[in-house]
Amino acid sequence: MRAQVLERFNAPYTFTTTHPEPPPPQGHELLVHVRAASYCHTDAVFASGAMQQGLPRVGSHEFSGVVEKIGPDAEKIAEAKGLKVGSLVGVPGRAFNACGQCKECTENGGDMKGYGVWCTRAGNLGMTKDGGFQEWCLVDARQVARVPDVGSMRAADIAPLMCAGVTVWNALETAGVDVSGGKGNGEGKYIAILGAGGGLGHLGVQFAAKLGWNVVAVDTTPAMGMLKEVVEGLGEDGKRVTTVDVSKESVDDAKKRIFGEAEKGLEGEKGCDSSIILPESQAAFDFGMSVLKNHGTCVCVSFPKDGWKFKPGDLVFRHIKLLGVLTGRNRQLQAMVDFAAKTGVRAKIRTYPLEKLNELVEDYHRGVGGKLVVDMEMKP
Ligand SMILES: [Zn+2]
Ligand SMILES: [Zn+2]
Repeated sequence: MRAQVLERFNAPYTFTTTHPEPPPPQGHELLVHVRAASYCHTDAVFASGAMQQGLPRVGSHEFSGVVEKIGPDAEKIAEAKGLKVGSLVGVPGRAFNACGQCKECTENGGDMKGYGVWCTRAGNLGMTKDGGFQEWCLVDARQVARVPDVGSMRAADIAPLMCAGVTVWNALETAGVDVSGGKGNGEGKYIAILGAGGGLGHLGVQFAAKLGWNVVAVDTTPAMGMLKEVVEGLGEDGKRVTTVDVSKESVDDAKKRIFGEAEKGLEGEKGCDSSIILPESQAAFDFGMSVLKNHGTCVCVSFPKDGWKFKPGDLVFRHIKLLGVLTGRNRQLQAMVDFAAKTGVRAKIRTYPLEKLNELVEDYHRGVGGKLVVDMEMKP
């Protein structure tokens, strides 16, 4: 079958038409005919060798496809999820064959019994097991999301939601956004999203605005064009989004513009309730902390190699909470997909045929906007 294989670190993928097809699904597995596979920053980190995992490997841990065969222990799970042969599913790479025994699996925040998405003994599709850059893939029936019939989502719309979408959804929930699906607790609340024009950021802006929060969408000048498109696409909900171009405006000026001049001595009362840090830069982290009012919550998603410098005084005297998230639970994954389908939240995507994956990677490193997705139907 057709596949793109990473054979060496810091080298292009190798295209092949003779990659062995997966064996029939065992245990909890489903055989999925891949329709679209998205490229994530972590694919780039993996390809650099920084994660020290084995090669050769078929990448992509966020993809979508059609269920073709159901493993013997997956029948009941598929039925419970409303899946059958022919169903379109979204596949996040995390937690393939979770162990069912560890604390992550047994105390899992209400997800399916014995299945934890942060199980350290589980495999990761696209990293420790082959992922979506191939025609067929074995996946765990417990890891996938059902694609609802409403909203006519295409396979290429689903793929980027499986890592970028669920991660930013979890970040929003961790930041205090009521993600139960309506306009929730957003009245009068502000969330700053640093890196708002990026892959996760532009999804986060859409989710937050549609969940009723005011959004301070922060990025540098090159991202402003794309952010403008995102805001326009939101219609009425776009009125809740204020963009900040940090190439031109300081955090103090932005706060003054959005919240007005603070009374002397009460500066800590002006600012955002929460912020989400997506870029790896210290400048983004500093902005995300400074933009908060006292008692605010800062959620980190990126994890720069050399770390960040933070001021303990922000935690001690301003009572800022500093939290982090990695991907998200199954209940969050499904809620996010259902919400996106219903409300029209979509990633801005650029599609490529599988044969041109290395072109996609070059475009990624050139910094073209949105999410870059392999569309398996596309002819080279
Ligand atoms: Zn990812
Ligand atoms: Zn486990």
